[in-house]
Amino acid sequence: MTPVPPSTLTLHPPAKLNLYLAVLGRRPDGYHTLKTLYERLDVADELRLTRRPAGVTLTCSDPSIPTDDRNLVVRAAQLFFQATALRGGVEAALTKRIPVAGGLGGGSSDAASTLLGLNALCDAPLDRARLMALGGQLGADVPFFVSEATVAWGHERGDAIVPVPPPATPLWHVLVNPGIPVLTPEVYAQFDRLPAALTPPQADDTLLPRLVRTGDPAVLAGCLANALEPAIEASYPAIRRLKAVLSEEGALGVLVSGSGPTTFGLVADQAQAQALAARVQRGQPDWTVLVARTALPASAQTSRRTAGVRGSLGRAVQ
Ligand code: ATP
Repeated sequence: MTPVPPSTLTLHPPAKLNLYLAVLGRRPDGYHTLKTLYERLDVADELRLTRRPAGVTLTCSDPSIPTDDRNLVVRAAQLFFQATALRGGVEAALTKRIPVAGGLGGGSSDAASTLLGLNALCDAPLDRARLMALGGQLGADVPFFVSEATVAWGHERGDAIVPVPPPATPLWHVLVNPGIPVLTPEVYAQFDRLPAALTPPQADDTLLPRLVRTGDPAVLAGCLANALEPAIEASYPAIRRLKAVLSEEGALGVLVSGSGPTTFGLVADQAQAQALAARVQRGQPDWTVLVARTALPASAQTSRRTAGVRGSLGRAVQ
C-alpha cells in the first residue's frame, strides 16, 4: 500500500546568523554580490500547515505582521501551488519567536519551511534544487533555509549555497535585539553612500569553516566580520553602544548579524552565555536578549533547552 502523506505538519523555521559577510559588488538587478557564512540557530518560529482543498490562509501570533500576500508564508504557498500546478490550498498558523526585522532571517525561514512543508504534504513533487530555486524568487536568504544546512557559504545574492561541515560542538551566542526595526534595503542604500564601501573584510575560504568546525570560539571570534556594520552604525548609533556592552561583559567577539540590528556576542560555552545574557538583560531591560546555539543536525532537544534559557531570563520574545 502506498503511504498517504499527512494532512498537517508542524515545522520549526530556524533563525540564522551571518558569521561573516562581505559585499563584493553591485548587480544589475539592484542586489549586491555577497560572500557570507550562514549559521543555523536553535531559536525558531513555529509553523503549522494544514492542507485544504483550495485557498491560502494565514494566522499569526504577532499582530504587527501582515497575514495577506505581503507575508512570505502566503507568497511561498502561492508560489508552490503555481510551480507544481497542483490543485489545493493550505491553512497556515505562524507563532513568531524570532525577532521581526532583526537580521535573523525570520520571514525568509518561514518561507523556506512553507515550501519544504507543502512539498512534504503533497508527496514531494519537487526536488531540493527546485525548491531552492523557488526560494530564491522569494528572497536571497531563503535558499539557505531550504538547503537545511547547518553552516554554509552564500555566494551571489547569498542564494548560491555551498554547505560546509557543521561544528563538532555547537557555538554559543548571546543575541541582543534593541527593538529598532531595520529594513534591509535601507542598510544597503546607506552602504552604497559610504566611501570605499565595497572593500571586503578578509576571509579565507578554508580557514573560517575550519575554525567553525573545530569550534575554538576564541580564534573564530577574531575572524567574525560584517561589511555592512559601518552602514548600520551610521544609521543607528545605538548599535555601537550595544556592541560595547557585549564586549565589556566578556563576549569573545561581537558582530551585527546580516543587516541588523540583532547583534551577537560569541562566547565559549553555555554557562558563559547564560551568565552574560543575564548581566546584559539586567542592565538593559528593554532589549530582547536570547541565548542561542548552533542548531546541529538531529538535535531535537535544542529548541526546548533554549526556551528554558529564555524563560530564566524572564523575557517573552515577540
Ligand atoms: P531580512 O534580513 O531578510 O530582511 P529580517 O530577519 O531582518 O530578514 P524579517 O523578520 O524577515 O526580517 O521581517 C522583515 C519584514 O518582512 C517585516 O517588515 C515583516 O512585516 C515582513 N514579513 C513578511 N513575512 C514575514 C514573516 N513570515 N515573518 C516576519 N516578518 C515577515
